[in-house]
Amino acid sequence: MRCIFCKNPSSSSKSVEHVIPESLGNKRHVLPRGIVCDGCNNYFSRKVEKPFLDLPAVRQLRFHQDLESKRGNIPPLSGLITPDIPVLLTRYPKYDFTSAQVSEPDLAKILQAKEVTMMFPLVVDLTGTPIVSRFLAKIALEAIALRLVEFPKGIAYLCDEVQLDVLRDHARKGYTNHWPVHVRTIYHQDGKTFGPNGNAEQIVHEFDFLVSDQGEWFFVLAIFGVEFTINLGGPEISGYRHWLEQTGGISPLYTDRYGGLAAMPK
Ligand SMILES: [Zn+2]
Repeated sequence: MRCIFCKNPSSSSKSVEHVIPESLGNKRHVLPRGIVCDGCNNYFSRKVEKPFLDLPAVRQLRFHQDLESKRGNIPPLSGLITPDIPVLLTRYPKYDFTSAQVSEPDLAKILQAKEVTMMFPLVVDLTGTPIVSRFLAKIALEAIALRLVEFPKGIAYLCDEVQLDVLRDHARKGYTNHWPVHVRTIYHQDGKTFGPNGNAEQIVHEFDFLVSDQGEWFFVLAIFGVEFTINLGGPEISGYRHWLEQTGGISPLYTDRYGGLAAMPK
């Protein structure tokens, strides 16, 4: 057995790999031990997943959705109280309680104020953040592995497919400086507002593959309504924009006209 990232023998590896970090609520999509070796697993958790989870936009999401880290913590959130008093909010989901921490002189100011408003910094644009594309490249390759995991030949193919090496190396080493990713919100983080049945249940995360008419492969992932798309073939996203224009902007997660790994050689 070989690791799908470094291609080294991995039969003695002991850790299972969470395709999406546990800190984002994933308990379902897990690869058995050896598909990703212990070395790569450890590296990704320190150098790719942690920086992604620490992005201001992602910390805000974890705060609002009560997403606990593996250690059971929710990252505190910094904000401002009318208009310039810094505040640190900490969530205690077990007690459904949020504490707000301000300095003593600031507390006096707040108590005197007629009106108190809480403000949070605007979520930064995730598109231009290099760690996002490495995070997605890692998940994309693992999502393919998840579909092939029942077929040893499929996993061997995944290790040997040179067309996936650019993506693989980007996840492993960040070789490509700028790998554009398409990011947009497709439904509110508390529930989905459009979908096949128009139902509003909360979707934590979902993913699928899209093959365009031009034969480009895309991986599409939604985390709490934020859709991320990466081209599996290389650092180019115009094909996805083109696809969106042609299909009226519907998310590939909600159309079964395309996608699926049926077309991939086994
Ligand atoms: Zn490895």
